Amino acid sequence: ARRDGGQSVCFYEPRLRLLVEEQRSLLADLRRAVARHAFGVEYQPIVDTQTLALRGFEALLRWHRPGYGPVPPDRFIRVAEEAGLICELGAWVLEQACREAVSWPSRVRVAVNVSVSQLESPGFARQVASILSKVGLEPSRLELEITESIFMDANASSFGVLESLRELGVGIALDDFGCGFSSLGFLRGFSFSKLKMDTTFVREMGIDRRAHAVVSAIVNLAAELGVAVTAEGVETPQQLSILRQMGCTQAQGFLFSRPMQPAAIPPLLDQIGGE
Ligand code: C2E
Ligand code: CA
Ligand code: CA
Ligand code: CA
Repeated sequence: ARRDGGQSVCFYEPRLRLLVEEQRSLLADLRRAVARHAFGVEYQPIVDTQTLALRGFEALLRWHRPGYGPVPPDRFIRVAEEAGLICELGAWVLEQACREAVSWPSRVRVAVNVSVSQLESPGFARQVASILSKVGLEPSRLELEITESIFMDANASSFGVLESLRELGVGIALDDFGCGFSSLGFLRGFSFSKLKMDTTFVREMGIDRRAHAVVSAIVNLAAELGVAVTAEGVETPQQLSILRQMGCTQAQGFLFSRPMQPAAIPPLLDQIGGE
């Protein structure tokens, strides 16, 4: 215990300073990594629930921070967003993923996550178009995943970008659907190519009647809208079987595969052959 009767701020200050320094050093490392493109990308399979045929891969960014080890993307992407680094990083991932996808069979698509700041940055649609033509990937083989948060700062121009991307022939998936500030209004405002159901619903589906009802409603909604629906975070055969019964068309999760290193993809494609 403290004996000097001082203010608690003296007690907290060293820890606070440490926190600030930590944040600063993380940011410095991240800046360096962005400048050098010192990231990896892993790819997680997305499969057809009925046939288990491979439909595509989602590209997931990986950062091994020197001296620390892997940092979860949720964490460093937020920092990259705040520091204005996400556009450069996002463009890198996009190009990386498109290059990878060129060598896959044409029925296998690639899904890439896109941040709001990227969508709002001027010329984003042109950037996507130029990457696609540079690497020689058919636009229809690319799907961009955006989260509902895009509609939070309902910047009208985001809708314009989405329209331009769709005209380009790129798929647009609504990620983490049902999770955020969901207003069903924007399903009317824009025609998405896919809804991705968040992991949390899938996890609770088997144990919670209400989660089950929500998943079922989303699957039906997607069917009525004529858009594909992917369940994320499928970990057990029971979950898969419930999703099949509901009519959910696609699934992704540890049951099928963890995110994979790019080098593991060609052997997988050879193994499953021309299904
Ligand atoms: P997300 O887009 O919702 O990606 C799905 C996350 O669920 C991934 O986490 C994936 O590894 C994880 N996952 C997949 N199957 C299962 C499962 O069966 N069980 C469980 N518990 N988890 C599963 P990850 O790779 O840690 O990525 C987290 C988030 O970081 C992503 O969530 C996405 O929002 C963001 N992110 C990742 N890569 C990028 C990127 O290149 N750009 C942007 N803007 N965001 C990215
Ligand atoms: Ca995603
Ligand atoms: Ca998601
Ligand atoms: Ca997520």
